[in-house]
Amino acid sequence: METFEEHYASMRRCILAHNPLTDMALIDRAVDYAAQKHRNQKRKDGSPYIIHPLAVAEIVAETGLDTDAILGAILHDCIEDTDSTYDEIARQFGSTVASLVEGVTKLTRVEYSTLEQQQMENLRKMFMAMSKDIRVVLIKICDRLHNTRTMQYQTPAKQISKSRETMDIYAPLAHRLGMQKIKWELEDTSLKYLDPEGYDEIMHYLGEHQAEADKFMKSIQSKITTRLSAVGIHGSIYGRIKHVYSIYRKMKSQNKSIDELYDMYAFRVIVDTISDCYNVLGHIHDLFNLVPGRFKDYISTPKPNMYQSLHTTVIGQQGIPFEVQIRTWEMHETAEYGIAAHWKYKQGVEGGSEKDFEWVRRLLESQQEENDAEDYIHSLKVDMFDDEVFVFTPKGKVMSLPAGSTPIDFAYAIHSGVGNAMVGAKVNNRIASYDQQLENGDIVEILTSKSAKGPSRDWLKICNSNQARTKIKQWFKKEKREENVAHGKASFEGELRRANLSPAILQDSELLPQLLKKLAFDNLDDMYAAIGYGGLTAAKAFGRIRDDLTRATRQSQQKEPPKMPEQSAVKASRHKDSGVIVEDIDSCMIKFSRCCTPVPGDEIIGFITKGYGVSVHRRDCKNAAGADDPRQAGRWVKVSWGTAEEKPFATTFEIDSVDRDGIWIDIATALTAAKVKISEISGREMPAGKARTVATFEVKNVTELEAIRNKIRNIDGVIDVRRGQN
Ligand code: MN
Repeated sequence: METFEEHYASMRRCILAHNPLTDMALIDRAVDYAAQKHRNQKRKDGSPYIIHPLAVAEIVAETGLDTDAILGAILHDCIEDTDSTYDEIARQFGSTVASLVEGVTKLTRVEYSTLEQQQMENLRKMFMAMSKDIRVVLIKICDRLHNTRTMQYQTPAKQISKSRETMDIYAPLAHRLGMQKIKWELEDTSLKYLDPEGYDEIMHYLGEHQAEADKFMKSIQSKITTRLSAVGIHGSIYGRIKHVYSIYRKMKSQNKSIDELYDMYAFRVIVDTISDCYNVLGHIHDLFNLVPGRFKDYISTPKPNMYQSLHTTVIGQQGIPFEVQIRTWEMHETAEYGIAAHWKYKQGVEGGSEKDFEWVRRLLESQQEENDAEDYIHSLKVDMFDDEVFVFTPKGKVMSLPAGSTPIDFAYAIHSGVGNAMVGAKVNNRIASYDQQLENGDIVEILTSKSAKGPSRDWLKICNSNQARTKIKQWFKKEKREENVAHGKASFEGELRRANLSPAILQDSELLPQLLKKLAFDNLDDMYAAIGYGGLTAAKAFGRIRDDLTRATRQSQQKEPPKMPEQSAVKASRHKDSGVIVEDIDSCMIKFSRCCTPVPGDEIIGFITKGYGVSVHRRDCKNAAGADDPRQAGRWVKVSWGTAEEKPFATTFEIDSVDRDGIWIDIATALTAAKVKISEISGREMPAGKARTVATFEVKNVTELEAIRNKIRNIDGVIDVRRGQN
């Protein structure tokens, strides 16, 4: 068992080796504080808990991170595991250190076990986004590395789940941040637990061939060394066998056994300058046979994680291929410790090497105007995900939304059905307002109800994602179609009347196709819907066909009497002498509204139109709702049916049914059997396997109508029969 003293001493040595100027009194104070806080805790192996933070701090120091990060590592489990608080740490060690500890704590609290697979990329992004300061992720990776190193004390189940997590989250993160050395160790150690046999096979093979491999590597090494000193290039040459997991992955992906593997050896030549890199490359290609197609210049084009090197693969005299990586010392540091290496060159080094660090410059571009190196560090944030926010479903699925998103965006991101049925939201188990801005790591739950009214127009202002906005608009277009059609129709007919044209002219079967072509709609309802929805103004639509309507109206007035009288004109005249009695008005034009098609026996009410006499509605027509509005009281008049009228009246049924073959034929048959004249019958599909049939036919009165309604109700699959409301 390792002791506290050993770890403490080892950590101090490492810190001083990397930065002799470190304020060691401050480090000691942090160790005292953490040791005091963790005094009652033990590691799984029985050693004092404080050993873990010390070991993590040592790894952090090794990567070259600054004093704040080392302090953060020493204190990293204090908030999570002890009574220590952000404020207390901020008071004693400053707010930067406290924020680092708090950040690590947040990442520690993410529950991976419940997370869905296939979500790892999102999760890694969330990880970065949750840590405003990149050092938080770096400390967390070092924390994981130490936990991986001491995995033997965990239960077998824990070993596997933690190793999976390391492979899925931490190793790729280390890779993205360019921390190659740590990445390799994380992968190799995890493999040991995830596929012990595979791991052992490789280790066994490598052990058996150790002597051979050493001999081979030495011969290559000395060959290169000899050449470089001959031409006066100063460089260091290292040979190594690639790390276990990379061999393992190659075996799996190429389906080969280990002795069939193509390239297991890698050599590294580290030199002082970039021009030396290219010189060395020339000499390598001169000494050995080049494997075509394997040369890569990551110096002129660095990898996204800022890795720079020249890569080439060659074959030695023994016929064994091997890879050679050529780089400068700075590039080497970056390759080993990635973004963390940046701090090393920030501390204590005046100017100088900074300009060689092209990648640091790029990372810091936005902060160019700042001079203070400390400010650079503090402002170095992972802003690549500033425009995204990562939240969880209650089941642990990670959703990526645009920054500033609200529960509405979340609901529509899950499914439009969830958004449309939304009646509330919970964020982190508390009821949240619809406009609450979601934050990284929030757990969001949407409350839905079957009787939800659907989105409100305000939601369009609250939501922040195009997805939600589009889906809400779609809903208004679709679900409110009938309403839109009615509104659109009213305002379009209003335009016609203002121009002294009768809406009836639109029904002219010869004229209509021509009009629709000009309007660019398939049918009038579509146009009304567009007007009602606000996609088109009534005036604009009318403008497109004004001339046609005026011309057609003039022509029909000349042709007297009209050969094919227009339907509602017929109705109006028919009813005019058919005895609807309008109270207090002796003689006026009567028009039966097309929206509710009243028939004798219905309770009715009249509306005094501008210039078209009285239009008669059913009392229960929604367009007659205005009769209760005192402001319109003067325009609504009492009307009643006069003597029994034997002539037929056109009326409409809306029939809801299941969507089965032939349903409308059955309806048509029922109507025919009732000896009524059908003028129109049409059907359309509705959501959830339903269908709606609209039938227009002629009846003498409401008694006959009700008899027919009963017949239709008895048809198999019919759910509801309503009087039409167009
Ligand atoms: Mn820890």
